[in-house]
Amino acid sequence: VLVVEDEQNIRELICLHLDLEQFDCAQAADGTEALRLARERPFDLVILDLMLPGLDGMSICRAIRREGPNVDVPILMLTARREESDKVLGLESGADDYLTKPFGVRELVARVRALLRRARRTVQQDRQSEAAEAPLTAGPLTIDAARRLVHRDGQPIELTLQEFTLLRTLAAEPGIVFSRERLLKRVWKGDTHVTTRSVDTLVKRLRQKIEIDAAHPSLILTVWGSGYKFADA
Ligand code: CA
Repeated sequence: VLVVEDEQNIRELICLHLDLEQFDCAQAADGTEALRLARERPFDLVILDLMLPGLDGMSICRAIRREGPNVDVPILMLTARREESDKVLGLESGADDYLTKPFGVRELVARVRALLRRARRTVQQDRQSEAAEAPLTAGPLTIDAARRLVHRDGQPIELTLQEFTLLRTLAAEPGIVFSRERLLKRVWKGDTHVTTRSVDTLVKRLRQKIEIDAAHPSLILTVWGSGYKFADA
């Protein structure tokens, strides 16, 4: 568990109680340190204070969700006032749950357990549905969702999770036009801080990896004024 809290006594109190519950804690007292740790290795959970010196909790939350080994990590946000909690929810910051200060440690531990249970269930469901899915052949590509592997003419291609999700979404329904908004929802899930421009950037990166000539794509086609589609064979 990564615990991000600038107030030392609260941070230590949280870690003490999580320790007692057999969780290992990494501590960060500011946003910069939090991001450094979050980019370094995956965590099972992040407890994130909203008000921090420098980079605030909301920005850290967005940054964690954008890239790195913790894009899917459950995030429990700590807020000082009720209005801040509303803000956290209203802006759909990407946090999974929040707790208003002052809070009881029992409630904190209960929330932590609930978030971890939920995360485990989701991973299991994802694994089951991916394992049930046979590799997909789309033109020269083979897309194996269960193993998250893509081959072009038998050669493996390294894709990021977002590139992979985008490719899989389009290739599963060749010829069907996907609007940027729909792709945004599919690839970035609930993150409201990305714009449709991000879709174009991601398509560009994906083309560079899977197309023979990214400037004249033959697999992921632009449908002017509408969005993108995978070439219909
Ligand atoms: Ca604080």
